[in-house]
Amino acid sequence: MSTMKRILIVGNWKMNLTVHEASLLVKRLHDKIQVHRDIEVVLAPSMLALQPVSQEIDKRKFKLAAQDAFYKDEGAFTGEVSFTMLRGLVDYAIVGHSERRIYFHETLEVVRDKVKAAVRNDITPILCVGETSREKAAGETSRVIHDQVTTALSDLTPEEVEKVVIAYEPVWAISTFGGELAKPDAVKKTMDQIRNLVKELYGAETAEALRVIYGGSVDDHTAGGYLAIEGVDGLLPGSASLNYHKFAGIIDSAYRQLHKKDKQDG
Ligand code: PEP
Repeated sequence: MSTMKRILIVGNWKMNLTVHEASLLVKRLHDKIQVHRDIEVVLAPSMLALQPVSQEIDKRKFKLAAQDAFYKDEGAFTGEVSFTMLRGLVDYAIVGHSERRIYFHETLEVVRDKVKAAVRNDITPILCVGETSREKAAGETSRVIHDQVTTALSDLTPEEVEKVVIAYEPVWAISTFGGELAKPDAVKKTMDQIRNLVKELYGAETAEALRVIYGGSVDDHTAGGYLAIEGVDGLLPGSASLNYHKFAGIIDSAYRQLHKKDKQDG
């Protein structure tokens, strides 16, 4: 883990839970999770549940993220919700999740425009990047990550890039697409590539400030191992975030990681 940063844990609920079920999960999470000044916990419910959940959460405990939004601020785009509409309601928005890239054919350029729209509306993008199993097998991981990161950030200034969160989520490790557990050394290698790329393009200060988190079938058993990797600033669990025992267990792992670090620092 990088020094001086809060650990960021983002629960992506995907297209699950009715508004009522979302409220129940929030109640349970409130009971189970304690506020910790060095851990930032973010919930990403469905678009429909965002507003009610925003009224139910203790804002010292939880922040909110949208799972996606459209890159235009307003207009004749039937069915879409803009970042402008989400302004003030969410602090974060997941952008370029692999399910959006794969199922909804979001291109590199669409993801770039969404990142820009989020920043323009004072919402921190959580930019998801990652290679598919086919790309991994073909030895293309590094090229894929390069293209996804450089295009997505290309309309931002270094000051704006500093505030972005990049989530490395190998597609083959996400439960939807296979859920194979990624090995820590492979995660570290790609995390380092991401930070080095940002360093080359935007400078060392920006690269150090940027938060890079990991996602891919993370649960309460595996969270500690991923958080222990140097350079991992947090986690983005999907399915495990729908289970309050597992999600609270992931937060506990973050506590333990901080505790270990405090001890090491004396
Ligand atoms: C995700 O979709 O971002 C994710 C990591 O999902 P899961 O934890 O279910 O693999």
